Amino acid sequence: MKYDAIIIGAGLGGLSAGAYLARAGKRALVLEKMSGPGGRCRSVELMGHRFDIGADYFGKKILDIYAELGKKKELDPVWFRVIAKRGNSSMSIPPGLHTFRDFRGMGMNAGEIGKLGLRMGGQIMFNRYRKISGYGELVNRLTQNGSLREIFSVGAFFSGNNPENMPSHWFNLVFGRTYGYDRPFIPRAGSGRLPELLASVIRENGGGIVYNAQPDRIIIRDGRARGVLLEGREMEAENVISGTGILHTVYSLADRKDFPPGFIDTLGYYKEGFSMASVFTVFRRDAKITPGAHIYAMFPASVSGMFRTLKDGAFPEDNMFVVSVPDAAYGTRDEHLAGTIKFLVPKGAVSREAIEAEAGRITGRADSLIEGFSENVVDSRLCTPADYAARFGFTSSISPVAESVNYEKMPVATPVRGLYCAGSTVLPVGGCTASSILSGRAVARHILKDK
Ligand SMILES: Cc1cc2nc3c(=O)[nH]c(=O)nc-3n(C[C@H](O)[C@H](O)[C@H](O)COP(=O)(O)OP(=O)(O)OC[C@H]3O[C@@H](n4cnc5c(N)ncnc54)[C@H](O)[C@@H]3O)c2cc1C
Repeated sequence: MKYDAIIIGAGLGGLSAGAYLARAGKRALVLEKMSGPGGRCRSVELMGHRFDIGADYFGKKILDIYAELGKKKELDPVWFRVIAKRGNSSMSIPPGLHTFRDFRGMGMNAGEIGKLGLRMGGQIMFNRYRKISGYGELVNRLTQNGSLREIFSVGAFFSGNNPENMPSHWFNLVFGRTYGYDRPFIPRAGSGRLPELLASVIRENGGGIVYNAQPDRIIIRDGRARGVLLEGREMEAENVISGTGILHTVYSLADRKDFPPGFIDTLGYYKEGFSMASVFTVFRRDAKITPGAHIYAMFPASVSGMFRTLKDGAFPEDNMFVVSVPDAAYGTRDEHLAGTIKFLVPKGAVSREAIEAEAGRITGRADSLIEGFSENVVDSRLCTPADYAARFGFTSSISPVAESVNYEKMPVATPVRGLYCAGSTVLPVGGCTASSILSGRAVARHILKDK
């Protein structure tokens, strides 16, 4: 049987491509190496609680896609608050009347706040940031307030890239309207609900998903993708879509000789961001969580300084970290709650002992975000970047390709006819769930228009 599309990888990018193609009546087959869908966006059961091992912060623009696919209601979004702290200053998202108070707490007067509002509005509404080369320069133009400048650099944590090396569009991505991260939600059933619903669209429309299936390679003949080789057997397809990341696709699933040299040169700019470690914890609700606040972030004195130290292979004194407590958003009444601490790990070889020591230090520091947190932890599991790869099958970098000021992201169609990439390493911008889902839709549209 010849498929219209074989999709490698059941992450959000691959599944979204499959869902849109299946709905258009195409024969789509997804092959996934793990035993379930989701990739870097899924929930697992640990210590009797549900944890989101990757993404756990979603922007409201994702809801448009699920509405288009008829699955918005089943997604059941729960809106939540984010609390960001640096020293004694704090800021919470979504913005509202309290934002004025937050800025006052950072020592800004009414005039400065007004000017900042106008500058931010101008950047976001008229896309002025597009004409500014780097994120650092954009922040320079917005404010000189020390706390706010660091909090504005939050995109660096997600892109795994020093703020000075980030493109300016990250500002709109994090604080603006690109994907609606200024109004965050999490599905009531956890992040794994997103891939599950995409998978159900594929199945309801006659498509197939095979788990524990890892193709040996993509078959490319005469400059065109013809299918995949799975356990030595050729499977034919009109189109092959890889949701496994552009570098893995070109270097592991295909052969670099299949691509023009100019294309390969451009891949040289595609550098992996920093990896994360997570401490999955179960803690007593005696710790003082803020109702409705799922994400708590602690900022260092200098985000740029933190990145320099991480790049040099060491943990900084005041490493940035995030604590996620989805139970606070869901309003769970259980005696014990689930919380995940995430922090970046330095480049190079870092021993498990060093990561364990940092995890212990950061668990203690989490008390300044959630009073009484550390003394109420009853159980915890550390997951290092190596553990992520071994247990969950992915590298724990939020952005496998850290967007820098130096490069343009690839379009979804590769130079090989019939070979597409979906997922967070191709357009549109931003190494996040929203960009992965949108890239899958872009692949499907491309294929449907081609016929
Ligand atoms: C710790 C962490 C926290 C994050 N937090 C957020 C967040 O809060 N908000 C947000 O928007 N984004 C977040 N992200 C990023 C987000 O998770 C990703 O951008 C998104 O899930 C990526 O989807 P994808 O489809 O591009 O790739 P992936 O999720 O990586 O999917 C690729 C799939 O392909 C499979 N695969 C790989 N190779 C093969 C092969 N050879 N054969 C078959 N299958 C294969 C993998 O198993 C996987 O299922 C986070 C990421 C991490 C790691």
